[in-house]
Amino acid sequence: MKKVAIIGAGTAGLASAIRLKALGYDVTIYEKNEKVGGRMYQIKEEGFTFDVGPTIVMMPEIYKEVFRVSGVDYKDYIDMVRLDPMFEIKYRDKTNLIATNDLVEMTIENEKISEEDAQGYLAYLADVYKRYLVAKNHFIDRSFRKPTDFYNPKMLYQGLKLKTFSSAYKSIAKFVKNEKLRQSLAFQTLYIGISPYNGPSIYTIIPMIELLYGVHYIKGGMYSMAKAMEKRFIEMGGKILLNQSVEELLIEKKQIKALKVDGKVTENYDAVLTNADFPWVMNNLIKEKKNKGKYSEKKVNKMLYSSSSFILYIGTKKRYDLKTHTFFFTNDFNGNINDIFEGNTPKDPSYYVYTPSRIDSSMAPEGKEAMYVLVPVPNKSDSPEKWDDKAVEAYKNKILDMMSEHEVFKDIKDNIEYLKVYSPNDFESKFNLQFGATFGLRPTLLQSNYYRPQNKFRYLKNLYSAGSSNHPGAGVPIVLNSAKLAVNELHKDLK
Ligand SMILES: Cc1cc2nc3c(=O)[nH]c(=O)nc-3n(C[C@H](O)[C@H](O)[C@H](O)COP(=O)(O)OP(=O)(O)OC[C@H]3O[C@@H](n4cnc5c(N)ncnc54)[C@H](O)[C@@H]3O)c2cc1C
Repeated sequence: MKKVAIIGAGTAGLASAIRLKALGYDVTIYEKNEKVGGRMYQIKEEGFTFDVGPTIVMMPEIYKEVFRVSGVDYKDYIDMVRLDPMFEIKYRDKTNLIATNDLVEMTIENEKISEEDAQGYLAYLADVYKRYLVAKNHFIDRSFRKPTDFYNPKMLYQGLKLKTFSSAYKSIAKFVKNEKLRQSLAFQTLYIGISPYNGPSIYTIIPMIELLYGVHYIKGGMYSMAKAMEKRFIEMGGKILLNQSVEELLIEKKQIKALKVDGKVTENYDAVLTNADFPWVMNNLIKEKKNKGKYSEKKVNKMLYSSSSFILYIGTKKRYDLKTHTFFFTNDFNGNINDIFEGNTPKDPSYYVYTPSRIDSSMAPEGKEAMYVLVPVPNKSDSPEKWDDKAVEAYKNKILDMMSEHEVFKDIKDNIEYLKVYSPNDFESKFNLQFGATFGLRPTLLQSNYYRPQNKFRYLKNLYSAGSSNHPGAGVPIVLNSAKLAVNELHKDLK
């Protein structure tokens, strides 16, 4: 049986592990943390349960597929329900927008704005759905092993059909006029850490995916998905070694032989699949420049990174009347986005509140709420902010002050029972994310598809990688796909 080592038990690491076991490999995962999940991490304190990173479940079929490929039914591992409404947006002027995936309700809501915008919304859906099918079939579901896989007339024609050259905001603006409606369809690029004003317009597929495939919730929170994948992998005979930090890939003649883990050399492996953040791996685990191919330290540090996140995890003494997902938009949406991507800690930020305890009593003690408040901030490469204790304390207080100005949170400061903060530093050190960029490499046109680090590393014989900074990109369903592509590449070589 051929032996594969996986570095990292994040979403893509666990999904790759299950797929490799299903194909008959002997698989060992090395994970630096004390539990699995990577960014899909969990804090459980004083009766409150918080998801640390991902919270919004989209494209549920991709989640289910991980179990199906290993011969089991997802229903025996995760309990997934569809959320309706999907989320609420609260504006400063006290108006709100409730996003439902009931097209009848949505049309009635849009008609309240104008019939022209209701029509524009439907035209947007039709246009972007067409582009989504092109993206899915020709880019997201395939890898690019060699230049001719991308540079061929068929692919270039499909690339043109994506019409991805304008920005997400501009592309939405062509269909709807109302500024609030535009913002409600453009802000989702922040889910993957890019600006709606600069991010490729193809990312307007995100609100379409929400509407057409639904937003879901997994009982117990996102972390239940990580635990479910861990359970399935162990049942299949896989090995997970926790608290094991890989320090080096031991390479002879362009071939990885073994790993160095906490100062010791492991057994030999036929192949290595790394799930740790790709740029971090290049800078830290491959020591000799000649083995890095084009990913020299200089190049890696010059690449563009997604935004980072500043998050408050708050356990409250009372309940708050909120939807599971609520977005609080600032008045100056444009200024806020510019701050994030020009390296300024936002002065007047929009923020996102996730309150799973509204629908899942296992997340907080009775009569209380487990609340996650995410503020998008610049990554550490774009910004001079060091996030020392003083800066973290000051920004935390600023966010709590801002929240208290909103009617729904007016007494929040008096009702905090538990509070923990994750700054970009925590994301950087806890999960080894280059520059603390919570969504990895920024998916600009020049860092997407063929130009994104591929799932088969071209410069070594037996290195494969899956995760947010690899093709096809960030977000749980997309890294689950990254795992599928990386495993396909590995199996092509090793079978
Ligand atoms: C705040 C936040 C909110 C998000 N919200 C959403 C959302 O709502 N919906 C959504 O779909 N996606 C969301 N995402 C994105 C999603 O979480 C990520 O794209 C996905 O979880 C990344 O998984 P991964 O497998 O690529 O990497 P990771 O989860 O980072 O896994 C990599 C693993 O490698 C381990 N590792 C690193 N270095 C080493 C080493 N040297 N030795 C051993 N192990 C190592 C790490 O500890 C980690 O476990 C969010 C992310 C964040 C951070």
